[in-house]
Amino acid sequence: MLLLRRLVRAGRSWGTEARGLASGAPREAADAVVVGAGVVGLAAARALAMAGREVVVVEAAPSFGTGTSSRNSEVIHAGIYYPPRSLKARLCVRGKEMLYKYCEERGVAHKRISKLIVATGAAEVPKLDMLLRNAKENGVDDLQLMEGSEAMEMEPELRCLKALLSPSTGIIDSHSLMLSLLADAENLGTTISYNTSVISGHVGSNGLELHVCESKELQNYHEFVPTPHYARGCYFTLSQTKSPFSRLIYPLPEDGGIGVHVTLDLNGLVRFGPDVEWISDGGKDHVSCFLNKFDYSVNPNRCSVFYPVVRKYFPNLKDGSLEPGYSGIRPKLSGPGQPPSDFVIQGWDVHGVPGLVNLFGIESPGLTSSLAIAEHIVSKYL
Ligand SMILES: Cc1cc2nc3c(=O)[nH]c(=O)nc-3n(C[C@H](O)[C@H](O)[C@H](O)COP(=O)(O)OP(=O)(O)OC[C@H]3O[C@@H](n4cnc5c(N)ncnc54)[C@H](O)[C@@H]3O)c2cc1C
Repeated sequence: MLLLRRLVRAGRSWGTEARGLASGAPREAADAVVVGAGVVGLAAARALAMAGREVVVVEAAPSFGTGTSSRNSEVIHAGIYYPPRSLKARLCVRGKEMLYKYCEERGVAHKRISKLIVATGAAEVPKLDMLLRNAKENGVDDLQLMEGSEAMEMEPELRCLKALLSPSTGIIDSHSLMLSLLADAENLGTTISYNTSVISGHVGSNGLELHVCESKELQNYHEFVPTPHYARGCYFTLSQTKSPFSRLIYPLPEDGGIGVHVTLDLNGLVRFGPDVEWISDGGKDHVSCFLNKFDYSVNPNRCSVFYPVVRKYFPNLKDGSLEPGYSGIRPKLSGPGQPPSDFVIQGWDVHGVPGLVNLFGIESPGLTSSLAIAEHIVSKYL
C-alpha cells in the first residue's frame, strides 16, 4: 500500500497507534491511497493507476484542485532558477517536456508564449548571466541573452537594460489539466472520496492503515501537525482590456518568490504577481491548511507595493489601473530570509516505513513538475 501524504507530515511516528479512533470503525482496502486531489495528487493517482494499481484518492475539500493548484500563475516553467541537480531542477525540466506532450495529446489548453527575464538596473545585469549559466547546467539550452533594445523591440511597452528570452516557457489552463488527469485516473478505475480528511496513520499487519474522518470533524484532530511556513502571493489584474505585452515578463527573483511578473492567461487577461506576504500565524492554524480556510482576499492597498515594482519594467503603467485579482498560498519548508528549499520526497529509504511516500514543500514549479513527480514516485517506490 502506498500513501502519498500532502504538504505536512504527522508529528507522531507512523509506527505508533493513532489515538481517538472509534472501535469497529468501517475499514476499506486499496493498493494505493493518494492524499490530496491537487495537480500533483491527481498526476500521482493517474500514474499509479496506469501502473495497474487500485487507487483511492482522499480529498479534504468538496472538490478537486481547490487549493494551491487553482491559485497560481499557470506558467509552465522552463527550469531556469533552481539549483543544478536539485529535484526542482530535474523534475521541472522533465515535467515541462511531459506536460507539453500531454497537453498536445489530450487537447489541454496551453500556449508556448515565451518569457523575458529583465534587468532594469546595471546591478542586475550580472544576475542574468548567472541565471543563463544556471539554466544551462539544468539542461535548459534555449535561453537567449539580448540587449534591452532588442527586447524592447519585441515588447514596445517594456523598459530594460538587458533581457533573457526563454522560448520554452508557456501558460496552461490548470483546471483543464486537472480535469484531464482526473478523467484518466477515473477511467482506469480510481475512486475519489471528497470531504474526507486523513488524520493519522500507522503500520498495520497488512500494510499502512490510514485513519480518515469527514472534513467537518477535523477540528478534533489537529494537534499532531508540525509547523509549516506559509507565504501568500497576491495578483492584481490590469483594468485595460488590451494586453501591453505578448510574452510573460519577469524581473529578477526575490526572497520567497521569483518576482512580481506579468502573466497572461489563455484569454489574454494580464495579471501582475505574485508578491510575497509571509503569514505570521499560518503555522498555528494547521486546520486552515487541510480545510483550505486561508484568507484568500486581496487587500486593495497592496497595489501601492505593486506600482513601483512593475513600473521598473513597465513605466507606462497608469495610476488606478491595477485591480485586486486573487491570491494563492505557498506551502514552504523555509521561512523568511532562509535559502529556498528543494522539493522533499521521502520513501521508505528515508523514513523506514514500507509503502509510505511523503511529499513536502511542493511549491512552484509544482504545477510544471506534476507529471514528472508522479513518474519519479512510481519508478522509485512502486
Ligand atoms: C502564488 C503561487 C503561484 C504559483 N505559480 C506556479 C506556476 O506558475 N507554475 C508552477 O509550475 N507552479 C506554480 N505554483 C506551484 C503550484 O501551484 C503547486 O506546486 C501545485 O499546485 C501543488 O499541487 P499539490 O497537488 O501538491 O497541492 P494542492 O493543490 O495544495 O493540493 C493539496 C490537496 O490536498 C488536500 N489535503 C491536504 N491535507 C489533507 C488531508 N490530511 N486529508 C485529505 N486531503 C488533504 C487539500 O485540500 C488540497 O486539495 C504556484 C504556487 C503559488 C502559491
